[in-house]
Amino acid sequence: MKEIVVLSGKGGTGKTSLTASFALLAGSSAVVADCDVDASDMHLLMDPVVKQKDLFYSGKEAVIDQEACISCGRCLEVCHFDAVLSDGTHFEIEPVNCEGCSYCARVCPTDAISMKPSLAGELYVSEIRSDANMVHARLGIGAENSGKLVARVKNEAKALAAGDSREMVLVDGSPGIGCPVVSSLSGADYVVIVTEPTISGWHDLKRLRELLRKFRLPSGCIINKADLNDKYADEIRKYLIEEAMDMLGTLPYDENFTAAMVQGKSILEEPFSESETAEQVRGIWQRIKAVVGLNKE
Ligand code: SF4
Ligand code: SF4
Repeated sequence: MKEIVVLSGKGGTGKTSLTASFALLAGSSAVVADCDVDASDMHLLMDPVVKQKDLFYSGKEAVIDQEACISCGRCLEVCHFDAVLSDGTHFEIEPVNCEGCSYCARVCPTDAISMKPSLAGELYVSEIRSDANMVHARLGIGAENSGKLVARVKNEAKALAAGDSREMVLVDGSPGIGCPVVSSLSGADYVVIVTEPTISGWHDLKRLRELLRKFRLPSGCIINKADLNDKYADEIRKYLIEEAMDMLGTLPYDENFTAAMVQGKSILEEPFSESETAEQVRGIWQRIKAVVGLNKE
């Protein structure tokens, strides 16, 4: 089983639109994992039908037992995060502000404060219209530890793929190079970077490449909207050669991508499926399969 992670140094390069297209081309041979848990949007293109839902807990938060509280105010004094709310007699915790440091619990004279697991989000296993499973998640408002949730999503997807003898796990990763991206790279076989010919696209491609070098992961690049700026498209091509990265293909700026997204579709579906860009996307997917070693047919 191969694990292919699709990343972009910056947002807005078309990463998710392309990953959705690849998911449709992979069909039932893939389990799809939406690891962009801070701003997940694969579900908008994949029509998931949720089959299983789990709660995701991460870290701890303080809870006050009102029966045991004697309103001494010690918790309010020591909390550095404005997480204790009080009118002078009633004390309660605001979970969004609570960092789970346990300081209040340690100073409470009546042991009225306990530390409970903090609900950070929900994890879903769904069926999508490519006859595959998709694992996705929703991070709770103000919840942190998205790196841990990414790890949960990926591990669930890998277990499903292994159990059903699927060829691959196809991961839609987060933009940037932060903790969720690092988490999505663990165990990957190949990374597809979607970039665009802008100064920020080029700059963020280089940052991502530096990160991948540390993981010693092979990677290839798709230059999306390549005709928007010839200068930066050429700079990116030269950079890929210098870095010995695979050039997986270029795509033009094509308003069909946006039109398809507005309809909740990929560019491979009607009425866009016969477009030249759709054909190029199919070609890129074949190249990805070839470099990853999945071209058996
Ligand atoms: S420290 Fe304990 S007893 Fe004092 S106000 Fe806070 S919860 Fe109540
Ligand atoms: S656990 Fe820490 S952050 Fe949360 S209420 Fe207590 S002192 Fe404040």
